[in-house]
Amino acid sequence: MTHSIRRTTHSVFVGTVGIGSKFPIRVQSMTNTDTADIAATTAQIIELAQAGSEIVRCTVNNDAAALAVPEIIKRIRDSGCTAPIVGDFHYNGHVLLKKYVACAVALDKYRINPGNVGGGILHDKNFSEIISIAREFDKPIRIGVNGGSLDSELLTRNMATNAGLKNPISARDVYINSLVESALSSATRACDLGLCGDKIIVSIKASDVATCVEVNRRLAALCSYPLHIGLTEAGVAVPAIVSSTVAMSKILAGGIGDTIRVSLTPTQSTKRTQEIDVARAILQSLGLVDFIPRVTSCPGCGRAENLAFQRVVSRVNEFVSSRIEVWKKIDSRACEKKIAVMGCVVNGPGESRNADIALSFPGRSEEPRAIVFIDGNVARTLIGTVDQIEADFLSMLDLYFLTSSTK
Ligand code: SF4
Repeated sequence: MTHSIRRTTHSVFVGTVGIGSKFPIRVQSMTNTDTADIAATTAQIIELAQAGSEIVRCTVNNDAAALAVPEIIKRIRDSGCTAPIVGDFHYNGHVLLKKYVACAVALDKYRINPGNVGGGILHDKNFSEIISIAREFDKPIRIGVNGGSLDSELLTRNMATNAGLKNPISARDVYINSLVESALSSATRACDLGLCGDKIIVSIKASDVATCVEVNRRLAALCSYPLHIGLTEAGVAVPAIVSSTVAMSKILAGGIGDTIRVSLTPTQSTKRTQEIDVARAILQSLGLVDFIPRVTSCPGCGRAENLAFQRVVSRVNEFVSSRIEVWKKIDSRACEKKIAVMGCVVNGPGESRNADIALSFPGRSEEPRAIVFIDGNVARTLIGTVDQIEADFLSMLDLYFLTSSTK
């Protein structure tokens, strides 16, 4: 499904991945390995790509990292990974891209932050050098403004100008307007330097939900570049996931956003790929992109045989994840299918009839029979042990998808 409210004038290709209104919203991620560690970075890029990251960004922060990039990209391509690789540059991008030509050639996109390209007269010079290299090697750029690294000269100037007005606006509005100005003036400068519109992606991120939403709305109203969106520095665990989901949902609901990233701090018990799972869940929940068949399941309650029910729900989810790539080859719309696994008769049959294929589990006080629904109708009654019911349902699920294209 493509989104259709806000139209981008340009389509930008990052490697072979198209970005803009003609394409699905793309999920991005970023490595957290030391880029100079070729083996670790290669492994993590492949892991992120396999988890569903359509574009992967790595920091290129020093000579060792820039030297490592060509070998990393060679290794991931040799492994069959096609995800475009983006170099993330701060402070010294103009130096590294000029000094390490192989790095500049190998990367699929350069991300630059106007807030730390250099101060004063050096800003324009350094920025021009990066744009010149992007033009020479036909690379797109992302102009990525962050609340935490907004061009301080610009903000100070705008605050001073506002303070002198007869009716000054709030400091927050000056700040948000300055974020937008930093992004758009840099994009305009890149265009003036000859980088075509179909080579520019813009993003503005903030760590506060309300600011992040507002700044993206103002940015989107003023330009038609493809936009990358995300709540930056979202934090850790559930609060970070909720904050990111709220921010992204509000932005995406306005038709804004062509690529997204969820910026979670991993914990000792979570993997870097969690940010991809969350990003995909946001897009799928909003009906913007279908990555995998949705498995509806109730939370269970005192009516359910909870241990058995929870185990079957987990197994169904694992089975769907393990089989979806096979099913997609048979039915290109397999990801749009709906599966349900329900815990008792109260909502089980109703939800099951709304799914494409479903298992309505018996509750504690019900007859020990699990009913399978297919396309809204009772297809079969399963009896026996939980293991038997689970195995029978997984077989029916597989058969349903393997013959799905004929339905
Ligand atoms: S469907 Fe049944 S088991 Fe599940 S939450 Fe509702 S009442 Fe409880």
